Amino acid sequence: MKYQRSSSLFAEAQKVIPGGVNSPVRAFKAVGGTPIFVEEAKGAYIYDVDGNKLIDYINSWGPMILGHAHEPVVNAVIEKAQKGTSFGMPTEIETEIAALAVAMVPNIEKIRFVNSGTEACMSAVRLARGYTGKDKIIKFAGCYHGHSDSFLIQAGSGAVTFGTPNSPGVTVGTAKDTLLANFNDLKNVEEVISANKNEIACIILEPVAGNMGCIPPTEGFLEGLRKLCDDNKILLIFDEVMTGFRLAAGGVQELFNVKADIVTFGKVIGGGLPVGAFAAKAETMDYLAPIGPVYQAGTLSGNPLAMAAGLAMLKELDENREIFNSINKKTEYLHKGLDEALTSENVKYTINRIGSMISIHFSEEPVFDFTSAAAANNENFKIFFHGMLDEGVYIAPSAFETWFICDALSYEDLDTTIAACKKVAKTLK
Ligand SMILES: *Cc1c(COP(=O)(O)O)cnc(C)c1O
Repeated sequence: MKYQRSSSLFAEAQKVIPGGVNSPVRAFKAVGGTPIFVEEAKGAYIYDVDGNKLIDYINSWGPMILGHAHEPVVNAVIEKAQKGTSFGMPTEIETEIAALAVAMVPNIEKIRFVNSGTEACMSAVRLARGYTGKDKIIKFAGCYHGHSDSFLIQAGSGAVTFGTPNSPGVTVGTAKDTLLANFNDLKNVEEVISANKNEIACIILEPVAGNMGCIPPTEGFLEGLRKLCDDNKILLIFDEVMTGFRLAAGGVQELFNVKADIVTFGKVIGGGLPVGAFAAKAETMDYLAPIGPVYQAGTLSGNPLAMAAGLAMLKELDENREIFNSINKKTEYLHKGLDEALTSENVKYTINRIGSMISIHFSEEPVFDFTSAAAANNENFKIFFHGMLDEGVYIAPSAFETWFICDALSYEDLDTTIAACKKVAKTLK
């Protein structure tokens, strides 16, 4: 494949945008080469500026669960735009999407909309601190909760891809309030709690981790965290920015039947527009301004275009629950095919999958936490990434990301992907 125009656009971009991108993982730094500039996308395919057609397994990092330019979503946005794009005043559609989200997700009574997953997680932690009157938080190595200061301590996703899980610019004061624990290690969490008795406001985690590749919780992990939180008056925050409205209509809370005290959303909830949200029981949410003391605000929060896209998306998912089965089945089919392709070429690999999230780690050992994820063979990942790209299959340009399966993918697309994998597997070490 040729990427001439992408290359020259990237060169231009680098002159005026740091690294040529507005979010680091897009830059291909971890895999080498030139990022691909998109011309347009429809359904399961990206069409780039050089005329290449790619089967897309990133889907804007999750939001496009029904594929790109999904008509009901696009139409909702166009219709709204004609009536004005922002008012800084309340609109009816905000209540509509809030009511729908509250109906779809268990254990939440009120929800507030923001503009990104980062904002949602940052605000959720502030709320937890304000509500409990405690300062410290526990996060897990390899979990990503956006780029706000408190979370850039051993974070996953782009932060680990570039080897800077702890960013300059995060003050020592902030870092000391973020305590680290190992994912899927309850005993370690217990130790951290007992070393910081009565100081911990919340535990935040991706209940199914997706930012160190896909890592599901081991049996009893979420239930164990729930109990530790109850016993120690700690709030449990599920960061469902990736998993919400994807793994089930009600997210991981529904799938694993474990209650969170605060839940954060992003990605799917915005239907491809910039939306995040956080939600909890009314008693907790009423701690927020304007009725409570915890301040949180946003000029463009609840923006009508964003709400229109999000509402159209959630309605589709709510009214066609079969979609969740459909994407899960497609992912299962892909999993089986990738397994066969990699096994037949004697590649050392581990595939983790849950629902429509799947990832390949080039390691023979089970991958269940950050250390085991980081132990995989990154050289093989680079070869795999570029090999798949040459075959017209676009996966995330980092070994620490999940593939997001969208319902627009056909079984023929999956077969094409599996055939590409078999071909590329021959080139791996
Ligand atoms: C993507 C992501 C975020 C950050 O969301 P942004 O919209 O990129 O700010 C937070 N948490 C998780 C689990 C995510 O996957």
